[in-house]
Amino acid sequence: TFAPLEFAVTKNLAALSPAQRAEKLEDPGFGTVFTDHMVDICWSARGGWHRPRVQPYGPLSLSPAAAVLHYAQEIFEGLKAYRHVDGGIYTFRPEQNALRLQRSARRLAMPELPVEHFLQSLRELIAVDGAWVPEGEDQTLYLRPFMFAKEAFLGVRPANKYAYYVIASPAGSYFTGGVKPVSIWLSENYARAARGGTGAAKTGGNYASSLLPQAEAYERGCDQVVFLDDDGNVEELGGMNIVFVKKDGTLVTPASDSILDGVTRNSILELARTRGLAVEKRPVSLGEWREGVASGDITEVFACGTAAVVTPIGSLKAEGFEDAQPLGELGLSLREELTDIQYGRREDTRGWLYRL
Ligand code: PMP
Repeated sequence: TFAPLEFAVTKNLAALSPAQRAEKLEDPGFGTVFTDHMVDICWSARGGWHRPRVQPYGPLSLSPAAAVLHYAQEIFEGLKAYRHVDGGIYTFRPEQNALRLQRSARRLAMPELPVEHFLQSLRELIAVDGAWVPEGEDQTLYLRPFMFAKEAFLGVRPANKYAYYVIASPAGSYFTGGVKPVSIWLSENYARAARGGTGAAKTGGNYASSLLPQAEAYERGCDQVVFLDDDGNVEELGGMNIVFVKKDGTLVTPASDSILDGVTRNSILELARTRGLAVEKRPVSLGEWREGVASGDITEVFACGTAAVVTPIGSLKAEGFEDAQPLGELGLSLREELTDIQYGRREDTRGWLYRL
């Protein structure tokens, strides 16, 4: 275990007034409004993790030669803070995000931030910006920890200086007017990840390479894109994992070294197990998906991730076909159970909540 860091706190003198903040929180949308402060911790080969700070949210100063701008040595996380009726602010399984950030760091040859420092960084930000956690139904404060190589050096090798930041952005309900099924475009021209690649890491490059196929999905009138691996097995969506429900209630979800191990997916599967349902993590081919839907063996398909929690999949479209997907109740019922725990409306028997 690590001793707590001594954060230097610089208050934002231009912080919004409570009235201005309330106005921003009314309809925050997603990802465009930011709180008054940010957390910043430096790492160097000589000094390790040092200079922990809470400072006013604002632009960074970075050398144009910073390694991240050239070789994309960058990783990030995404999790939410929830305001409970008792006024307490909680987050959900943050140690899972801390551990995933460490796994991402290893794959990108970056230093690992200790779990304790990760948790403390969230607490420090909430200590100054807690008033930004909205109270409205389905509203949250989205927390975005990220880390990048800032050494000014154009050689191709792991940098020897990094910066870790946490910024926060209030988020409204993902679905305005109720949860709606999404249409999915099957990406056959582009892959998201390859065997031995960075697919399991939460690194910017994976998202950069998903933008063109995502644009193709929009052109084809679809909301999201789903990727396959080299063998034609289903991987995941651009920013969500995928789960299939079988006629007998079994939940099946891809096992793959090249997808992101989602905290939402693991939690949903755990809730399903507690309900006595069988859960399988194994390769799922496109053939199994399409034949399962055609024969009625698959009764429901949904996507899951932190942002939208659970999203029913209503159709799968590709160059040569369009398969309507059966809509079921299980995904939405698991979604309700999970969000009830997250917002403190149901007892947290698994110790998933973490008070910030
Ligand atoms: N896959 C990808 C590619 C993602 O970006 C995300 C969102 N982090 C997920 C899956 C779901 O992960 P989580 O449930 O931890 O948000």
